[in-house]
Amino acid sequence: MSQRISSSTLCVRGPEPRQKPYDAVTTPIVSTATYAFRDTAELRRHFDGLSDREEYGRYGNPTVRAAEQKVAALDGAEEAALFASGMAAVTTTLFELLKGGDHVVMTSDCYRRTRQFVRVFLGRYGVQHTLVEPGDDKALRAALRPGQTKLILSESPTNPYLRVADLSALAAARDACPGANLMIDSTFATPVNQRPLEWGVDLVVHSCTKYHGGHNDLLAGAVLGRAPLISAIRDLRGVLGGTLDAQSAFLLLRGIKTLALRVGQQNASALRIARFLEKHPRVSRVFYPGLESHPDHAIARAQMSGFGAVISFQVRGGLSQASALVDACKLATVAPSLGGVDTLIEQPSLMSYYELTTAEREAIGIYDNLIRLSVGIEDAQDIEADLAQALEHAA
Ligand SMILES: *Cc1c(COP(=O)(O)O)cnc(C)c1O
Repeated sequence: MSQRISSSTLCVRGPEPRQKPYDAVTTPIVSTATYAFRDTAELRRHFDGLSDREEYGRYGNPTVRAAEQKVAALDGAEEAALFASGMAAVTTTLFELLKGGDHVVMTSDCYRRTRQFVRVFLGRYGVQHTLVEPGDDKALRAALRPGQTKLILSESPTNPYLRVADLSALAAARDACPGANLMIDSTFATPVNQRPLEWGVDLVVHSCTKYHGGHNDLLAGAVLGRAPLISAIRDLRGVLGGTLDAQSAFLLLRGIKTLALRVGQQNASALRIARFLEKHPRVSRVFYPGLESHPDHAIARAQMSGFGAVISFQVRGGLSQASALVDACKLATVAPSLGGVDTLIEQPSLMSYYELTTAEREAIGIYDNLIRLSVGIEDAQDIEADLAQALEHAA
């Protein structure tokens, strides 16, 4: 088909066959740990690589494969591999790409557990890394060690300040470093708002726990890219064992059907709420890539078709004013995670950075009066009214 199929159509129909087992309209849940062979001859054919069938649950499952094809199609990838969580996708991929002596360049605001994995665990195996500030192209170029740097890793947008990476600039840096792969954690963008592979990125990672699933009822992760690399990562998944189960894959497929619809609504509601917060006298600063005041607004406009559900903002005052606001919310629920149908609110200083002191948090740019909001699909006016009344408690 010459015309690109729109995200909303892909979400519902994807590359699914029209005719499914039992004439079901939906993809069935194939809940089995292992698969039967008719006889030893079929088993031999399978291990001779002459059959295209399932063998054992850790290596593959038809429901999971259907979800992988849909996730791949949404980002325009050749292939996708699904995992039991976003972190299983990240760690398995990094184990596949890196060996002792290799070097990684990553942005300093990557997901906390990803940074921990690179620093502590890969560090144990002799993998070196350099952290660079998001948006600092000069520092990135200076950090590259051609021949040794095997991976450039960034997120876009990032947490909690929604920094947007210039993907073309990152791809150009990767081109200056033969043998290196460029990997983007695109969780905060969703494939509805941003398709990094079209900007020259090699590998895309998603925590499908967030927007793809969209209902805060499953954990899943995905890595997407060219077929040979994804195939190697899938083989390692069979060794490390972070396989997604059929029940979660079914929930994921079900969630994805409404992904474009949900994200469209969340983009619109979040922009409206970001503008409301920016004008509010009790709010000192709002971070949302859709706002003209955001440092990466121009890149975001060029690279994204919407700006997502997550807004960070600072209330006037400190930890207790921010807590008072969070506690006064009646609609927004206090919980980690993002991207789902429910509006969630949290204080990064109490959630991800609780073990640090105020001074230590400020040193890494996490202020005590910072609040992160993930706008759900409730009526935008109701969410705004909830925040308006809660802000009265933040005095
Ligand atoms: C949540 C998240 C992860 C980890 O995903 P899980 O599904 O929780 O394992 C990785 N990267 C980003 C940007 C995330 O938001």
